[in-house]
Amino acid sequence: MKNISPPSLKGLDLEELKKTLAPLGARAFHARQIMAWFYQRGVSDFSRMTDLSKELRNDLKKNFRTDELRLKTERRSRDGSRKILLETADGQLIESVLIPSKERLTACLSTQLGCKLNCGFCATGTMGFVRNLTAGEIADQLFHLQNIIGWQNRITNIVFMGMGEPMLNYDATLSAARLINSHQGFNIGARHITISTSGIVPGIVRLMEEPEQFKLAISLSATSDAVRDKIMPVNKKHPLKELLTAARNFSNRKGKLVFFEYILLAGVNDGLDDADRLSKLLKNIPAKVNLIPYNAGGRESAFRSSSPQVQQAFFERLHQLGVAVTVRISKGQDINAACGQLRAAITSK
Ligand code: SF4
Repeated sequence: MKNISPPSLKGLDLEELKKTLAPLGARAFHARQIMAWFYQRGVSDFSRMTDLSKELRNDLKKNFRTDELRLKTERRSRDGSRKILLETADGQLIESVLIPSKERLTACLSTQLGCKLNCGFCATGTMGFVRNLTAGEIADQLFHLQNIIGWQNRITNIVFMGMGEPMLNYDATLSAARLINSHQGFNIGARHITISTSGIVPGIVRLMEEPEQFKLAISLSATSDAVRDKIMPVNKKHPLKELLTAARNFSNRKGKLVFFEYILLAGVNDGLDDADRLSKLLKNIPAKVNLIPYNAGGRESAFRSSSPQVQQAFFERLHQLGVAVTVRISKGQDINAACGQLRAAITSK
């Protein structure tokens, strides 16, 4: 990454901001005022921060910047979801998605540029890995999503399920989650913030030691090591037994459900025998399964989505077996809303 100067103030928590501003003679309350302008009012232009002295505003302008990311494209789906493509200061592209539902406005944020893990069904996996995002770049995605819908209409839920594997950029993801959670930041409750993983067990173990009550989602999508090894190569390093033990420990330690995402792939993982195995695997883990119809997003893919009948049969079997299960309606199909797809579509044009 290019060395960018001046440094940015976005993404710093209160303590970091106080320290950073101290050489300008700024006091603790100035840091709080600046954070309120950023994360409560959606203002990142120092000259509009009218409760700061003119002198401090000028000093801030001279010494710092606030924009981590620049909005490049926005797409709106017929179903109300919105996807944005953002450009980093070093010219890379990140995507973030806003998904409205009856009671929630959920932001799906990216944590890495590209991804090393190469899951077979994922557009991001085909791009390779460029670099980790900083905490500021992760949090600034939320700032931009909030900007496009207006700050009076607040985003209620966060999922770290965009481009990248959050647990392989653990520190920056956690810093961003804490900023989003903090009163001085976006003030979104920890129980409304979900950190997902494709199965990085050391990340799950770290997350269970954290004091916050962030939620854990695991992208599972297979019920045997043989199939999971093929579609999610991370399984070779952290096979199902190890992963599910970590999930059980997380749930016990935190007293929380673990969410399992299961992408239904025709003829690969959508048989009733898979449903039976899945219910056995999740026995003794307080869990909820989200079935996700596969969305190839118009790109060439070795996989197909399961038919609605197969999805229904899979759902019913799990339900009969006592598994808490929902089928997630795949939103934003017309705007390439699955992870990495808009970036892939734009960069391949
Ligand atoms: S699904 Fe997630 S972990 Fe797997 S390749 Fe895509 S971004 Fe990486």
